Amino acid sequence: MIEHAPSYYAATANRKDARPPLQGTQTADVCIVGAGFTGMSAAIELLERGLSVIVLEAACVGWGASGRNGGQIVNGYSRDLDVISKRYGQAPGRAIGAMAMEGGDIIRDRVKKYNISCGLVDGGLFVAMNAKQMRGLAHDKRIWAQYGQTAFDLLDKPGLAPHVTTQRYAGGLLDHKGGHLHPLNLVQGEAAAVEQLGGRIFEDSRVTAVNPGDAPIVKTAAGEVRAKHVLVCCNAYIGELLPEIGHKIMPVSTQVLATEPLGNLATRLLPSNVCVEDANYVLDYYRRTADHRIIYGGGIVYGGQDPDSIRAKILPNMLKTFPELRDARIDYAWSGNFALTLTRFPQIGRLSPNVYYSHGCSGHGVTTTHLLGRLVAEAIAGAPTRFDILANLPYYPFPGGKTLRVPLTVLGSWYYRTRDKLGV
Ligand SMILES: Cc1cc2nc3c(=O)[nH]c(=O)nc-3n(C[C@H](O)[C@H](O)[C@H](O)COP(=O)(O)OP(=O)(O)OC[C@H]3O[C@@H](n4cnc5c(N)ncnc54)[C@H](O)[C@@H]3O)c2cc1C
Repeated sequence: MIEHAPSYYAATANRKDARPPLQGTQTADVCIVGAGFTGMSAAIELLERGLSVIVLEAACVGWGASGRNGGQIVNGYSRDLDVISKRYGQAPGRAIGAMAMEGGDIIRDRVKKYNISCGLVDGGLFVAMNAKQMRGLAHDKRIWAQYGQTAFDLLDKPGLAPHVTTQRYAGGLLDHKGGHLHPLNLVQGEAAAVEQLGGRIFEDSRVTAVNPGDAPIVKTAAGEVRAKHVLVCCNAYIGELLPEIGHKIMPVSTQVLATEPLGNLATRLLPSNVCVEDANYVLDYYRRTADHRIIYGGGIVYGGQDPDSIRAKILPNMLKTFPELRDARIDYAWSGNFALTLTRFPQIGRLSPNVYYSHGCSGHGVTTTHLLGRLVAEAIAGAPTRFDILANLPYYPFPGGKTLRVPLTVLGSWYYRTRDKLGV
């Protein structure tokens, strides 16, 4: 059995037992490669439409980013809606904007429909480190209003007091439709729903080849799946499986700490129990857990390697935000990879008429993966209109190719980090 990262989530997962690997030849309408949010979301949508589904997972359900992230329901994409419209045109921009809240709605519907126990809490707060970022949040609120989304409150510095106890921020934007949850328990609950609907999931089943054609064949070391359609959603962990798409994304590692249970101190630091994310280019994100720990994430390593010390990378920022945590024991420290695209906008498409891919939510994927899973399912089920809006957007590789993409991106990021530090 391949173990999860040593996270708070793995230690508190609802399900700990493994599923068997694929053996021999199996058939299904759709074979999904990768059991993260994208794969589970697509599987549920397909099964609900009456198609048969097999999911192949190299490790175990939720082993990738989906089972180890910050758990924050962040609405929208990793690109602002007005930038999307400017870059891709008004019509696609409007259509993409109209879908921007759908991922969060899918999560809430699923949690209810399939009775998933994942500690879902409503409310997310974006905080500004300075006046420039505050203007950015006010701008975001105006843009959301243009799409009819009004569940946002702009808060000045005193307005933050009911939500977060720190002097670090100039103000914030409260998203009442944001929220947070235990992501591994969400993805595991979704996997249980897949099986309840008749889908089959094989773990420890790394896909070694996807042979396209009228009846594509998906191969593992011990078996194969013959399917009418294939969805590849391996995200940052795709490795060399399909270099034509894998080389256009960049794995980026981000790190997370979980403190010991803090009792009332956790409630004092985050009184309203919203999750918080700052507006820096390399941002901090944190929240309370059901057992009153603080989960604090941030930091990035382009290329996806782990830093020498996760604690050394995250702790200084956590203590800047909450000096009260000086003596708190750190019970868990882990990292995971998300997939960055050059445009910070996810990439979905077809490698051939019946082989689909979806990845690259670029750091904000809890909601977007759920939306993308639905869009792929719609396309496979014969209603590709919304899928095609995203699939038709240009897919740019990183400059510098596989060898130079990391140093060039580090350089670009240094520029933006410096601007954040200077508040310009
Ligand atoms: C530490 C961290 C914190 C984050 N915090 C947040 C947050 O708070 N809010 C937010 O919105 N987003 C957050 N994100 C991003 C979000 O978690 C991801 O965008 C999202 O989970 C990606 O889901 P996915 O299904 O596309 O990929 P993954 O969850 O990574 O799943 C891909 C799966 O494919 C499998 N796989 C790979 N290769 C093969 C193969 N050859 N055969 C079979 N299976 C294979 C992997 O084992 C893996 O399980 C965070 C990411 C990380 C890493």
